[in-house]
Amino acid sequence: MSPEEILKKRWGYDAFKPLQREAIEAALAGRDSLVVLPTGGGKSLCYQLPAVAGQGLVLVVSPLIALMDDQVAAAREAGLAADALHSNLKVGPKREVYANLNNGTTELLYVSPERLLAGDLYEAIAPRLILAAVDEAHCVSHWGHEFRPEYRKLTEALDLFPKAARMALTATATPAVRQDILERLGLRSPEILVGHPDRPNLVYRAFPRRDQIKQVLEAVRRHPGEGGIVYAQTRKDVERLAAKLKEEGVSCAPYHAGLGAEERRQAQHDFVNERLDVIVATIAFGMGIDRSNVRYVIHANTPRSVEHYQQESGRAGRDGQPAECTLLFSASDLATHRWLAKKDFTLPPERLKALEKQLRDIGRYASAPVCRHGLLAAHFSAPYPADGRAQDGCGACDVCLGETKGLPDDEALLTAKKVLSAAWRAEGRYGTGYVVNLLLGRPNDRMAANGHDKLQVFGLLKEAGEPAVRSWIDQLIVQDFLEVTEDSEYPLLRITAEGRALCQDRGSVKLGQPAPAGKAKKKPKALKAVAGDFSDADEAVFHRLRALRRALADKAGIPPYVICHDSALVEMAAARPATPEALLEIKGMGEKRVQKYGAAFLAAVAGQGDLPEAD
Ligand code: ADP
Ligand code: ZN
Repeated sequence: MSPEEILKKRWGYDAFKPLQREAIEAALAGRDSLVVLPTGGGKSLCYQLPAVAGQGLVLVVSPLIALMDDQVAAAREAGLAADALHSNLKVGPKREVYANLNNGTTELLYVSPERLLAGDLYEAIAPRLILAAVDEAHCVSHWGHEFRPEYRKLTEALDLFPKAARMALTATATPAVRQDILERLGLRSPEILVGHPDRPNLVYRAFPRRDQIKQVLEAVRRHPGEGGIVYAQTRKDVERLAAKLKEEGVSCAPYHAGLGAEERRQAQHDFVNERLDVIVATIAFGMGIDRSNVRYVIHANTPRSVEHYQQESGRAGRDGQPAECTLLFSASDLATHRWLAKKDFTLPPERLKALEKQLRDIGRYASAPVCRHGLLAAHFSAPYPADGRAQDGCGACDVCLGETKGLPDDEALLTAKKVLSAAWRAEGRYGTGYVVNLLLGRPNDRMAANGHDKLQVFGLLKEAGEPAVRSWIDQLIVQDFLEVTEDSEYPLLRITAEGRALCQDRGSVKLGQPAPAGKAKKKPKALKAVAGDFSDADEAVFHRLRALRRALADKAGIPPYVICHDSALVEMAAARPATPEALLEIKGMGEKRVQKYGAAFLAAVAGQGDLPEAD
């Protein structure tokens, strides 16, 4: 069977995603490869399909023990003989895994790095091993965000299998990490397959934060009944937001490292099994979340870097269906990140310097009135759009959707000069609030004592309103025209050398005109329900199928997304298949799945059968 035929029969897909075919061919030819694909790019298929086509054993090293069982379950749904070996395995199942290995029936074996390094697997694996895949390969790199010391020892273990091809997979595409992976995993003249980092199904939005709870609620309300993650900076923020959302009737739970292990496990379990719509979390949440129908990720605070943002927001829309990523930006968050980093005395100075750049980059991303898809692609040194053809906006970010508008160049320069001269006049002796009041013409005693209420800049931006003025100050900070210094008791706002140059017409500046509050309330068209232009009847069928999927998942003890993705349910609800053959035409419904669940789905499409009560 050709790889295409296997793809259709086992996975129910008609065509490969970008670079999958190349990765599979390299593996089957016994060549090493580095595969860099964004989340949702279909990395697992790259090593799973060779197990079928090559009729041998594929080993998958993965650091995410919590995920392994779900990955095994998903592979089995595609009809693969898959097993996992890790420290949480009980004796009985472990014996079974070894029996399968010794019988030569195992096609796919997931192992934790520790398990492989223990060294006792050699004899069971060596005779049939055709491919060793290292998932989350960025864990080998100090430059990555999830360094794991065990990963550094993997090469030694892999060297025991010189004939097996190696495949390193990651979604992290920075050149430093890539280089590290190549060296540290000892890849031999590897095929380097780097996909485009853009995620076209994600709608990116970044707004200045004015009223955190109100803005978060607005975004949550665009997605009733759908899965979402709200990230906040501190445990306190998490608790506060979760309590507020609950009060507003949103099905949600908090998640942070300060909660008990059991409480965290329960929250994660409920979320993955669709018994909970929203998780409000610190970044402690996410590694090991494979729920594919997360329809939105909201950052209630600014993340620490563009890489973090890409990783965290990337948890939305893994199934390829439209999803929304909203970031609420405030320059004060950047100051908090800086403060936290400085508090950690173990950080070497070069890391602090790197952090400064990261903060500036994420600040620019979040506040520049420039297409967000374009900015993200540029950050990872990729052209946008991918094919290089000019296009009229991405249609999937706040800027291109017209929710955030840039000021015309001359107006931006004039506005920037007004803000900068106020900061200049305040001589770097006051905080942001003082400068805001000065520009808005709100006098106070201190200002009067300084005579600042007599200055020309006093009230110069009265018409613009406070949110706009605050946002402009933030935007000028991330563009280095202003800086916040913390060497005194209070943070002080200061003009920089670049800022002074700009006041003398040297340099250029971009400023966004923040949309009036509430502007982004409507869903852009691409987000109109998961279901696109569904009729009400289609929508009813979709919800029936979703309830059925959950009941089937409960019975089998696996998460719903392992049975099939929302996209398959959407297609079923629209196409209304009436026979198993027709069901096989639905993308993602391979032979095994149709055998197992076909009758139940067909009955549900026809409006028959015992439908479980949705609770
Ligand atoms: P990654 O690990 O890169 O984030 P996954 O391997 O989880 O991505 O795949 C993401 C989704 O894409 C999965 O639901 C998978 O079934 C689906 N997928 C993989 N390959 C294809 C394909 N060729 N066509 C359509 N969907 C695919
Ligand atoms: Zn855009």
